[in-house]
Amino acid sequence: MYRPDSELYYLTGATEPGTVAVLTGGAEPRFVLFVAERDPVHELWHGPRLGPEAAAEAFGADEVHGLSELGRRFPSLVADADRIYFRLGEDRALQRRVVEVLSSGRSRAQRSGRGPRGVIDPALVLDELRSIKDEWEVHTLREAARMTVEGHRTGIAFLQPGLGEWAVEAAVEGSFRAQGATGPGFATIVGAGSNACILHYVKNNSVVSEGDLVLIDAGAEHDMYHGDVTRTVPAAGRFTPMQRTVYDVVDAARGAGVAACRPGSSIDDIHRAALRVIVEGLVDLGVVSGAVEDLIEGGAHRPYFPHNTSHWLGLDVHDPGAYVRDGSSRRLEPGMVLTVEPGLYFRAGIDGVPDGLSGIGVRVEDDVHVTSGDPENLTAGLPSAADEVEDLVGSG
Ligand code: CA
Repeated sequence: MYRPDSELYYLTGATEPGTVAVLTGGAEPRFVLFVAERDPVHELWHGPRLGPEAAAEAFGADEVHGLSELGRRFPSLVADADRIYFRLGEDRALQRRVVEVLSSGRSRAQRSGRGPRGVIDPALVLDELRSIKDEWEVHTLREAARMTVEGHRTGIAFLQPGLGEWAVEAAVEGSFRAQGATGPGFATIVGAGSNACILHYVKNNSVVSEGDLVLIDAGAEHDMYHGDVTRTVPAAGRFTPMQRTVYDVVDAARGAGVAACRPGSSIDDIHRAALRVIVEGLVDLGVVSGAVEDLIEGGAHRPYFPHNTSHWLGLDVHDPGAYVRDGSSRRLEPGMVLTVEPGLYFRAGIDGVPDGLSGIGVRVEDDVHVTSGDPENLTAGLPSAADEVEDLVGSG
């Protein structure tokens, strides 16, 4: 399915295929939009297009033209710019126009001293802007989170031993759509039993057994913004003591990570907070031994917790934005939205795993909005405490 470019959407709100936005700076900045013209035959097959007139109303551009005008108007729009922010390698036709403007700009510049002399990746400007969400974006992310939570509730309520992982996937995604979400924002993971230990398991083609934990990692896309939530639940509604011990460690790590989502903390502080709980848990479980700090420094957790705790979340599931700035871990600021998703995975056959742990995989993930005060857990509506999770299973 066609998905509009995130940067185009961020800047303009426009969603139709082919749309080109030209934003010029200088003393009189202009926002010029080129959209596909109305076309009865195309619209017969693919549905209605806005066309330039309606697009002018919808997006508040200074000028809107049909795409067929682009070739004629583009050079003069950018002729006086000293640089062009354009992503190379994505739209070959547009890239050719940019290259033409650059080469004629070079000869012009030798005479007039004006004209574009270089192309810069727009991410250099946009990534930073996008990493701080405005009020409307936070509102939209709250909605995506709410739909994501509801989808998980539906899938977990539907879950029972004997079902296919695919059936749970369908229940979760069906709920997303029923709530008005565009659909899942990424390939849903439903991993039963040891499938939960495969980090990017998307086959979802096994049948759920009685004693399995089932890991569900899914997120709704709403207005182009995303939820991204993981819960790990017992298929039959009750954790075994060993499963619960592991689960409680991971959920406590999640809680520690969420609590660390405060302005001034760094993204590494969140990981450290979660990791400490994970490593203490690994010691208690008898998987590793030694002083916790030494174990962390030595990476003793890596076979069982091999991924980072967080990623930025927004228009993209893995939203852009630096994790390191000026050589140190990025400080959190109000308006940032990120996931907190520690896990523990005891794949069969890895060294040092005591009997009873083999095949257990647990991840618990929430989406958090950093505010000037307490962190706002956008997905707190979905319980994560073991007792409450048990009550959700098979309740539908
Ligand atoms: Ca995630």
